[in-house]
Amino acid sequence: MQYINGEFIPSQSGKSFRNISPFTNNMINEVAEGGSAEINAAVAAAKEAFDNGPWGKMKVAERLDYIRKIADIIDAHADEIAYLEAVDTGLPISQTKKQAARASQNFRFYAETVSTRMAGEAYQVDNEFLNYTIHKPIGVAGLITPWNAPFMLETWKIAPALATGNTVVLKPAELSPLSAGRLAEIIHEAELPNGVFNVVHGFGETAGAALVAHPDAKLISFTGETVTGSEIMKNGADQLKRYSMELGGKSPIIVFDDADFDRALDAAVWGIFSFNGERCTANSRLLVQETIKDKFVAALKERIGNIIIGDPLDQQTEVGPLISAEHYEKVKSYIKIAAEEGADVISADIPADLSKGNYVAPTLLLNVTNGMRVAQEEIFGPVMAVISFKDETEAIALANDVTYGLAGYVWTKDLQRGHRVAQAVDSGMLWINSQNVRDLRIPFGGSKHSGIGREGGHYAFEFYTETQVIHVALGDHHIPQFGKKE
Ligand code: NAD
Repeated sequence: MQYINGEFIPSQSGKSFRNISPFTNNMINEVAEGGSAEINAAVAAAKEAFDNGPWGKMKVAERLDYIRKIADIIDAHADEIAYLEAVDTGLPISQTKKQAARASQNFRFYAETVSTRMAGEAYQVDNEFLNYTIHKPIGVAGLITPWNAPFMLETWKIAPALATGNTVVLKPAELSPLSAGRLAEIIHEAELPNGVFNVVHGFGETAGAALVAHPDAKLISFTGETVTGSEIMKNGADQLKRYSMELGGKSPIIVFDDADFDRALDAAVWGIFSFNGERCTANSRLLVQETIKDKFVAALKERIGNIIIGDPLDQQTEVGPLISAEHYEKVKSYIKIAAEEGADVISADIPADLSKGNYVAPTLLLNVTNGMRVAQEEIFGPVMAVISFKDETEAIALANDVTYGLAGYVWTKDLQRGHRVAQAVDSGMLWINSQNVRDLRIPFGGSKHSGIGREGGHYAFEFYTETQVIHVALGDHHIPQFGKKE
């Protein structure tokens, strides 16, 4: 069902699409398919709610109470959300549980941060002027999200968009629609005024494109593939859309020979094989110093042989099936390309009873050189390319020799080198001696082909609000008097 203007409704066309289980490849449910008619209705409802509804007129504290209420309802249904997400995406349930918890934190964080940190600046210019800035919501926010970690990624956009006073039309990924449907029910239960939040299910080329093209959707926050981001920017160019782009990655983990070997190993394994490798910040390139390469690779081989591949609903499962048969084929094709390019492919075994699912075993690509496609292109699966380096200079050069620049990880006990390398790597985010953990106050985003702009923390205010400057004259300052006769 679509959620438009506070109502759950079928599509005007009566069309629907099949949502397929990654675990069985059988149908989970049918989803009403929205297109431009539903987008038009949703944007009109959101515009009306923004222009004339109570959302923009109520006190900020009252608005933020709604945001907290959404968080409370998510928490009350966290197990169910984690279950839906695991069924829909194939992500192991132990990992979707953490994502459900993070989703409610996104709402709580922005309820708090809007009230305490959404502040302008004021400058007194001698005794002549006072200049100050205020943040104003922009209007209808169009949010377009991917299928990996859908609930968490949706909420990290919805929370700041709503908390800052905008109204929202969400177009979730067609491959994982369940949790967005549940989120509409949750927000309905929180009794937000009609039209403030809307969900239109449908395909990118139709529903997504209609949202981008709609003149009343004033901003588009997009997370997805780099090529899609580029297409969206072209399609919205005539209207000078405001964009936030969170795109793909090919992030390096650089392990020096003085690193804490065991912790670097844990981080490398988790960073590529968690979330089935379908993770934008995955360390899909391991750059390991040649002095420890053999030992590190031997330890990696042992680890991948022990990783528990299984049913996403099993608490013990560490790696589940990929989102779709099509994506499975794409990831498998890269493993084939790696072999053709001359890499050695080392894969774990997949249990025989999992043959119906889209399982790709954790895979290492050895003897990779940075020019190979598997070192340059985003595979978005449980596949890590291993490249060795001689020294710091070479490590930095290899790290930067890609079009992407989302994340990076450096492991060394040399404090100065850690900072030096971190600052030399061209990525939006870099972790030193750490796996990918992020405090919500810190911005998130990529450089190069991995994104434009930053989300998260107070950086979200730059995107979801218009900064207006008010110039006030405090007295009778000089004004040139053109045309005045003496
Ligand atoms: P995708 O680009 O195929 O789809 C993302 C969304 O865009 C979907 O909702 C889709 O329907 C919609 N879409 C597709 N074509 C469109 C068009 N022409 N106009 C408007 N909307 C359109 O991405 P995906 O396969 O769902 O997600 C995986 C990708 O997302 C990977 O590249 C991954 O790295 C990236 N990602 C990035 C981040 C980040 O924060 N940088 C986070 C998660 C995922």
